[in-house]
Amino acid sequence: MDDQTRRSVKPQTLVAQGFGAADPLANGLVTPIHLSTTYLRNPDIGDPDNGYSSGRIYGRADNPTLHHAEALVAALEGAREALVFGSGMAAASAVFLALNRPTHIIASRVMYWGLRSWLQGIGRYGHSISFVDTSDLEAIRKAVRPGATGLFWIETPSNPLWTITDITAVSEVAHSVGALLCVDSTIATPIFTRPLSLGADIVVHSATKYLNGHSDVVAGALATAENSEFWNCIRSARAHIGASLGPFEAWLMVRGLRTLHVRVKTQAETAALLASRLLSHPALSAVLYPGLRQHPGHAIAARQMKGGFGGMLSVRVRAGEAAAIAAAANVRLWKRATSLGGVESLIEHRASIEGAGTPCPSDLLRLSVGLEDPDDLYDDLEQALDTAVC
Ligand code: PLP
Repeated sequence: MDDQTRRSVKPQTLVAQGFGAADPLANGLVTPIHLSTTYLRNPDIGDPDNGYSSGRIYGRADNPTLHHAEALVAALEGAREALVFGSGMAAASAVFLALNRPTHIIASRVMYWGLRSWLQGIGRYGHSISFVDTSDLEAIRKAVRPGATGLFWIETPSNPLWTITDITAVSEVAHSVGALLCVDSTIATPIFTRPLSLGADIVVHSATKYLNGHSDVVAGALATAENSEFWNCIRSARAHIGASLGPFEAWLMVRGLRTLHVRVKTQAETAALLASRLLSHPALSAVLYPGLRQHPGHAIAARQMKGGFGGMLSVRVRAGEAAAIAAAANVRLWKRATSLGGVESLIEHRASIEGAGTPCPSDLLRLSVGLEDPDDLYDDLEQALDTAVC
């Protein structure tokens, strides 16, 4: 695809064709995987690019397959640039490792538990953190420590209650105190929300989930609005600690990205269908899905999520924790497994994974909706719930 076409077409077209980057050797439509860990240096090492006319020196930071995945993520997020990492946690932690002075951080109280656990120990790096309900703007404002708060970290919709945070409103608070806003947009995906266009500075993804989408790659990504000094510190942290994604995983991620639009739209449609059917199920006391009018964040979600509300929902089982665990044990089609965003549907009793201190209710089951037939998924849940509560 030539540069002019690249600039004029929509992200969906760019991504479906993987940028149309053909293999220059064989003219194949699929780009090869570049495995080389090192690159040829010119005989004249005194030239301005240090003798590396390819711009690539060493595989810990430089790899064309990695850069292909990064360019696609940047196009999807409308970002200046993107970086791909060996996991979502590596991507997220690179942001905190790049802070170059003791910083007060404000973060969502309900968020991916693995990151929350790591952040609880962020004091060892000289930073401090306040976990607040980021759907409550007043609580956010109250948590600000003037002169010290430098980073806001929000996840929306947030795992596993799917709480919605207003990205534009939080970005205004963050920027008014000179702080940066990072948004974990793993659940929304760039198809439904583009946080940078709503005022975020950096977007974070566990690419293990929807971006790759096939439960066969652990990966992470960051995308930035500006090529700032802070962004350069993140890039340098990634290169120094060696947190890049491997080339084979990057290639798989590119392959996954090519079908992102159709996957997540279908997943969101099925999730919406299941949520509305489950609402009237007598065994459930609540269905948590931002697409439902009853969800406390629905009005904001309807504004900030375009074209769908994502493929994740949770249900609360009226008879309590034991019945929820029994329902998860009774499924025949849904897979009992952690993670989310793959083509197969997953069910999980979340509180028992997160352990003590979790804000997740013990009667909650988290559902990651895949690409199966919606009736098959509903029928399986219904028989699992019926067997558990009888
Ligand atoms: N962010 C969210 C919302 C997640 O759900 C996860 C993992 O479940 C992560 C970040 C961490 O990503 P990874 O497992 O790829 O390290």
